[in-house]
Amino acid sequence: MQNICEEWRDPASRDDEGHGNGAQGKPHADAERETLMMELTRLVQKSVRESSWWERRGIDCSILTAAFISLPAGFLLLGSSQPLYFLLGLLIMGIAHAVITVKGTHLSSHGALSESPAWTDFWAVFFIEVCGSFSARAGVHAHVKMHHAHTNVIGLGDSSTWKIPFLPRSVYLFIAPLAVPIITPIVAIGQLKCQSPFQIVRTVLCVCLGFFSQYYLLRCVSGLSCSSALVVMLLCRAMFSLPYIHVNIFQHIGLAMFSATQRPKRILQMTHGVLNLPRNPLLDWTFGHSLISCHVEHHLFPFLSDNMCLKVKPIVSRYLKEKKLPYLEDGYVSRLRLFFHKYQELMVFAPPITELVGIQ
Ligand SMILES: [Zn+2]
Repeated sequence: MQNICEEWRDPASRDDEGHGNGAQGKPHADAERETLMMELTRLVQKSVRESSWWERRGIDCSILTAAFISLPAGFLLLGSSQPLYFLLGLLIMGIAHAVITVKGTHLSSHGALSESPAWTDFWAVFFIEVCGSFSARAGVHAHVKMHHAHTNVIGLGDSSTWKIPFLPRSVYLFIAPLAVPIITPIVAIGQLKCQSPFQIVRTVLCVCLGFFSQYYLLRCVSGLSCSSALVVMLLCRAMFSLPYIHVNIFQHIGLAMFSATQRPKRILQMTHGVLNLPRNPLLDWTFGHSLISCHVEHHLFPFLSDNMCLKVKPIVSRYLKEKKLPYLEDGYVSRLRLFFHKYQELMVFAPPITELVGIQ
C-alpha cells in the first residue's frame, strides 16, 4: 500500500518547488530567502537532534493515551442518575473526543506520531477514520498536500473549504459549527468516489467501527436508551466544534493571499499567510500547540509534534524577528471580533491577492 503520509522532513529542500519567481529577475533575493529558510531549518534540526524521544513524541503520545484512559470513567459517569456526575461524564467524553479527533488526527495526518512508515499509516487510518469518521486519504490530501503545500494560494490552499458565504455571520460563527459531527461523515462519503475499492471498503468499515463502538458502549456500559445515546454522541462530538471552526479560519483567512503563478518563497508564504493565537490551556491540550500558539512553526516545520513546535517556538520567533520577517500573532477574541465585523469582506467576497513583489 502506498504510504498515506508524505514525508516532510526537509522543508528547505522544497523551497524552490514551482514558485516561479526566480525566473522573474530576482535570483539574488531568491537565493537569500532560500538561505534564510535553510539557516532556520538548521537551527530547528539542531534543537530536534538534541531532544529526547520523550520531547519529540512521548509527551504528545502520552496526552493521546490519557484521553483513551479517561474514556471508561466517562462511560461510567454517563450512566449516573446524578445530574452532576452525568455532566462530568459528558465533559470528560467531549474533551477526550476533541483530543483524539483534533490533536490525534492532525498529528497522525502529518506522520508526527511515529518514525515508521507502517505505523504512520496505521495511526492515520485509526485516528482519521475510526475516531474522526473521515477518509484518511482524503484528509491527508486536503490538509497536508493542499493546505500545507499551498498555504493561502488562491484556489489551492486558501481555506475556502471553510467558507459558507450564503450563511449569515452569526449562524456561520455560532450555530453551523454544531453540525460538524453530522457533516463530517457525509463529506467523507462524497470523498470516496475517487478512491480504490479497497480504500472505500476500509473507510466504511473503520468509520462504522468507531461510530458503533461508542454507541454500543453508551448503551451497554452507560445504560442509555437508543435516543439518549445518539444525543450524547452528538453533544460530545459537537462540544469543541465552535473553536474548531474558529481556529481554522482565524489563522489564515484575512492574511496575505497569493496567486498560483506568482507565489513567494516558502519562508515568505508562511510568515505572511499564517498567524499564531495565544496559549490557551484547554485548546493547547485538546487541539495541540501546532494548531493554536505554534501555527507558524507548524507551517514552517509540519513534521514536528506539538511539543516540539512549542520547544522551537522561541528559536523561530527570534530568528524571524531578527531577519525583519513577520511573526503574526493575535488574540482569539480579537480575531472573533474581526471576523464578526468584516464577515462580508473576509468570508463572502473573494480575497485580494498579495504577490509580495516589493519585498522579494
Ligand atoms: Zn497541519
